[in-house]
Amino acid sequence: MSELLSSLVAKGLAADPEDPVTRAEALAVLATGDDDLLDVVAAAGRVRRRWFGHRVKLNYLVNLKSGLCPEDCFYCSQRLGSRADVLKYTWLSAQDAADAAAAGVAGGAKRVCLVASGRGPTDRDVDRVAGVVEAVRERNPEVEVCACLGLLRDGQAARLREAGVDAYNHNLNTSEATYQDICTTHEFSDRVDTVRQTQGAGLSACSGLIAGMGESAEDLVDVALELRTLDPDSVPVNFLMPFEGTPLEGTWELTPAKALRILAMVRFVHPDVEVRLAGGREMHLRTLQPLALHCANSVFLGDYLTSEGQAGRSDLEMIADAGFVVEGTSTDTMPAHRQAVVPRKRGAGTEVAPNA
Ligand code: SF4
Repeated sequence: MSELLSSLVAKGLAADPEDPVTRAEALAVLATGDDDLLDVVAAAGRVRRRWFGHRVKLNYLVNLKSGLCPEDCFYCSQRLGSRADVLKYTWLSAQDAADAAAAGVAGGAKRVCLVASGRGPTDRDVDRVAGVVEAVRERNPEVEVCACLGLLRDGQAARLREAGVDAYNHNLNTSEATYQDICTTHEFSDRVDTVRQTQGAGLSACSGLIAGMGESAEDLVDVALELRTLDPDSVPVNFLMPFEGTPLEGTWELTPAKALRILAMVRFVHPDVEVRLAGGREMHLRTLQPLALHCANSVFLGDYLTSEGQAGRSDLEMIADAGFVVEGTSTDTMPAHRQAVVPRKRGAGTEVAPNA
């Protein structure tokens, strides 16, 4: 055990792409027992603090369009024919979206994620989102804006970038081998293509996974490694919320300890990348949530996407009690050596110089 953790920490502190954590090492993290859990989290914490200190970046979701999706992602309460009890509405007005975003910023959020259900946007939808971005920025000029609109077609990523969007979220969710077990209306390769398109347009790529959908440890490691190949700037880790009325209703495979091991594995595989604690954290980590902050450096604030999160205030208390601080807007999230590849500043094609 100590040999494994020493190797993971050494590799994590170096973050040398030529000497990455191996598949066997990542699998070994997931195979550790509960008696070793605190050692695993402490090792992940050393890597996390090397690149992100004690900072926690807060993110806030604004649901622009909810439900009524023609796709059939098995985990999603907004899928075609879902009987889940979620709000269904088409396109929030730009002002309502800006109001919601401002509430998140007031709660400490540094990034606002504008989310719309659906397979992907039409060009008209992209124009609509451009109007939302303008309204959000009028109220909060410094906020980072991420869009999450589904699969993109040629030219749409560039249009979003021109509109002032900083980042684009599109998760791989699970391994290529099990993708057909969670969705039949699009393919894993479609998702990979969209992540590549966003990077090609100069958007900061955000792409992560969902754990607890019936996948094996190998699948979890495979999706983490596939994400490493894509080299996103942020990796959200979701834990399945098995909504009633979806095919994965009743799927309860996670324990707080297992969720922590998954987060630690993702941290070791992505040592210097923003690892975000996302959906299902309250449900699955429960009282161990503060330990998760030693693995993840980013978290969704308050209630998010079709579910109730902890109220913002208790999140802030948890962060402070665990010895972490909320990351301010004037601080770069990413380590200096990644600044050159993260187009954080707005404006098409603009790159940020390394802040050595
Ligand atoms: S495409 Fe998005 S909104 Fe539609 S079912 Fe899949 S995850 Fe849900």
